[in-house]
Amino acid sequence: MPGLVIDIADLPRATGSVKTLEITAPAPADLGAGVIGVPEGSDLGIAVTLTSMDDGVLAQASADLHIHGECVRCLRDLDEDRTVRIDELYFLPEAVKAQQDEGDEEAEELYVLGETTLDLEPALRDALVPTLPFRPLCRPDCPGLCSQCGERMEDLEEGHHHEDLDPRWSALAALASPDPDDEEA
Ligand SMILES: [Zn+2]
Ligand SMILES: [Zn+2]
Repeated sequence: MPGLVIDIADLPRATGSVKTLEITAPAPADLGAGVIGVPEGSDLGIAVTLTSMDDGVLAQASADLHIHGECVRCLRDLDEDRTVRIDELYFLPEAVKAQQDEGDEEAEELYVLGETTLDLEPALRDALVPTLPFRPLCRPDCPGLCSQCGERMEDLEEGHHHEDLDPRWSALAALASPDPDDEEA
């Protein structure tokens, strides 16, 4: 079975039947948001309990994963191990179809079982991605980088600044803010 697809052929349909398993799978691509997420191919350790329900299978899982990102201000590496909980009902295709026939527009967003499989990836994605920061920071008040030398502000002495601009930059600065007298001419 590839990736996070679990074979449920041996899970009895009788309501309340349970199957438990532990899997280690490589993380799929794009399990994250922009500059932060689970590196593709890194290990996902997942403990899964599947329970047969009337309309499908209840998937309860805890996934141990590694999150890697970069502080958007100082570009420092951000690394964190996290456990993500999944608690979702996967519906039988016919149960989803029945809901669609009833005009339930949200039926399209339901998790659906395959013929004899359950793909944990969409539920894992939905449980993890919304919790990731849109603009990750190493700490809320990260001072970032010096705009002139590119060094981390926290590595520099307090009051760090650049007195003497490179003459080429001075020339550009003069162009950017022309002398007001010139404009009247
Ligand atoms: Zn930072
Ligand atoms: Zn500097």
